Amino acid sequence: MIPARSFGGKRVALFGLGGSGIATARALIEGGADVLAWDDNPESVANAAASGINTGDLRQAGWAGFSSFVLSPGVPLTHPKPHWTVELARGASVEVIGDIELFARERMARAPDSPFIAITGTNGKSTTTALTAHIIQASGRDTQMGGNIGRAVMTLDPPKSDRNYVVECSSYQIDLAPSINPTAGILLNLTPDHLDRHGTMQHYASIKERLVAGSETAIIGVDDIYCAQIADRLEKAGKDVVRISKRLPLTDGYFADGTNLMEAKHGRFSRIGFLEGIGSLRGQHNAQNALAAVVACMKIGLDLGEIQSGLESFPGLAHRMEQVARRDHVLFINDSKATNADAAAPALSSFSRIYWIAGGLQKEGGIEPLRSFFPRIAKAYLIGEAAPAFSATLGEAVPYEIAGTLASAVEHAARDAALDDAGEAVVLLSPACASFDQFKNFEIRGAAFKEAVGALERIKPIGGTR
Ligand code: ADP
Repeated sequence: MIPARSFGGKRVALFGLGGSGIATARALIEGGADVLAWDDNPESVANAAASGINTGDLRQAGWAGFSSFVLSPGVPLTHPKPHWTVELARGASVEVIGDIELFARERMARAPDSPFIAITGTNGKSTTTALTAHIIQASGRDTQMGGNIGRAVMTLDPPKSDRNYVVECSSYQIDLAPSINPTAGILLNLTPDHLDRHGTMQHYASIKERLVAGSETAIIGVDDIYCAQIADRLEKAGKDVVRISKRLPLTDGYFADGTNLMEAKHGRFSRIGFLEGIGSLRGQHNAQNALAAVVACMKIGLDLGEIQSGLESFPGLAHRMEQVARRDHVLFINDSKATNADAAAPALSSFSRIYWIAGGLQKEGGIEPLRSFFPRIAKAYLIGEAAPAFSATLGEAVPYEIAGTLASAVEHAARDAALDDAGEAVVLLSPACASFDQFKNFEIRGAAFKEAVGALERIKPIGGTR
């Protein structure tokens, strides 16, 4: 745990008592703060009180006595409208911050030179965070990973000079971290998402921009217009900007040429690494993630040999194009995290003979946006409520069956793929749907897929994801 000593002796209000809220309250108390915590859910309040955290209704509190208000990132700060606690804090001119801000202040107070890599973007945050942390850890350095992935940031070990932090930041967390100042800040990409919470695309982009604007080196994926403009703007303002691209040969920066990772300096190119043969980093989207991780690791002093060896041993993350098992020429891939068409696109674009398991609770737009990948699909196995709608979209373009359940989809897809004699075939769960009609969440859906695959005869598991 990182005791929040910079809040020692101060009175702090805190709202949101989920896992990370409780961890943050503890870090504040450990640092000597006088905390008053609350939540709209009485059960969460009771839980916190039972574990020794001072709770009380913040409507009745004297806000003038608080030096700070710590808000959970899940609670609306601005859109659709500020939470009532935010109104009260603003009325009393109390700063509104989150746990990443607490971390940034502790790091500045104790070890401002400790390497700190912060990662944001619309897609690929968790993969890039896990990959970066893996590369640093594999090089034998002290590595702490957390934030929006895994551990709440204040539960990490306290900052010291040779301790490396790799922190995933959602836009909600950045919005609550005004003094975030990483050694290397990564902005992967920006596409419209979460606009319910951020109002407009401009507002959403401006929050993400803050993470790179505050960093010593800003690493920016310039494959979309929003990020390209941010890179130009920061560079004009005199910041150290490193551009990365998954598809464009840049004059200056880093880009992917197929599976080769290239460095460009004044139009001269050299290869700095490669992804050929690394199963956990297939696909163009992963080239973007890998480039970001590689550049961040270079920034904090790793050499290219250490970085390449970390790339090669990266196990990948569960449920994101996760290699589950192999049987002869058939590879089984769990991409259960793909809960809409956009998220299923990277997996469908990464393979060419696909036995595709799709369906669940349908999202707006269905699978129409995936039409350009239909020629790669040897057959589709449709499950859940979306099956009739998906079958209508597939029409004559793709052979399909309504498999109904995931278990029968796996069985049939495995049987058909085994008979495919055109080279490597892939049985892919990439549902393009939410899971709630048949499973509690995407993790349980992915686990059910793995179990069904594991039960096949002569199957060889590919282990090791995080
Ligand atoms: P996040 O943490 O931002 O949600 P993840 O790393 O968990 O992202 O990946 C979630 C899904 O997003 C993946 O299964 C993949 O389909 C897609 N994805 C991953 N990286 C990228 C990227 N760089 N660009 C576009 N899509 C990506």
